[in-house]
Amino acid sequence: MLSPTVRGLSLACTDGAALGHVAGQWVNLHVQAGAALEKRAYSVASAADAAHPECFDIAVTLVQEGSVSQALHALPVGATLSIDGPHGFFTRETTHGQAALFVGTGTGVCPLRAMIQDELRDPAAPAPRLLFGCRSEADILYREEWETLVRAGRLQLYASLSQPSAQWSGRRGYVQTHLRSLIDLEHKPHVYVCGLTRMVSEVRRVLKDELGYDRKLIHSERYD
Ligand SMILES: Cc1cc2nc3c(=O)[nH]c(=O)nc-3n(C[C@H](O)[C@H](O)[C@H](O)COP(=O)(O)OP(=O)(O)OC[C@H]3O[C@@H](n4cnc5c(N)ncnc54)[C@H](O)[C@@H]3O)c2cc1C
Repeated sequence: MLSPTVRGLSLACTDGAALGHVAGQWVNLHVQAGAALEKRAYSVASAADAAHPECFDIAVTLVQEGSVSQALHALPVGATLSIDGPHGFFTRETTHGQAALFVGTGTGVCPLRAMIQDELRDPAAPAPRLLFGCRSEADILYREEWETLVRAGRLQLYASLSQPSAQWSGRRGYVQTHLRSLIDLEHKPHVYVCGLTRMVSEVRRVLKDELGYDRKLIHSERYD
């Protein structure tokens, strides 16, 4: 479990072939949920690994009444699934040395993790910035990994909690309320947004209507 409601799954293609994804893409998992074989999309949460190109990670939020997420939370270690993919166009643009801003909530951080891992392969890449919205401290997925990168000066992390404990001294509230303070309006960075529609729409609205963003600089993926 990556958090009380999110299960991480490490998968490997059984034929040993590379998954062949670009960071940001997703795969369809075909899952037996009760009597039905269902298909759902899950973002690949890891960049392609040259040493193990057949391996990849996903992370699944347990959705109340959700048939496939419940089946994936109950899946035994070693189980075999069919997949199709990779699919999708939510991938990074060339930014010529400018650090991107990544904005995610919940498992919406998964494709952003893959993109950040990919970006950091270039030792000269400027530290990307991640604005990560979660309910509470326990919901900050991959927290140790982010904090290791922050200590190494390779990532700027802005976690914002909607229901923090009294001890939390970081940002609070919805991610869209922090955009203005994080964006240099003279040199607008590309922004990559992923999560549920309500958040993605709000972030896009603030960027376009309040911060004068051109839509070509906004890249988004919606989970519902
Ligand atoms: C491109 C893409 C990538 C995705 N990547 C991920 C991922 O990396 N991790 C992940 O957990 N899910 C991801 N999803 C959502 C996933 O495909 C399923 O919709 C989700 O797991 C619910 O499936 P279910 O069968 O359990 O619920 P269903 O019975 O299909 O749906 C139940 C309800 O839950 C809503 N819902 C969907 N996702 C969520 C969520 N995360 N939180 C709360 N409500 C939700 C649906 O809109 C629906 O109303 C992605 C979706 C898309 C389109």
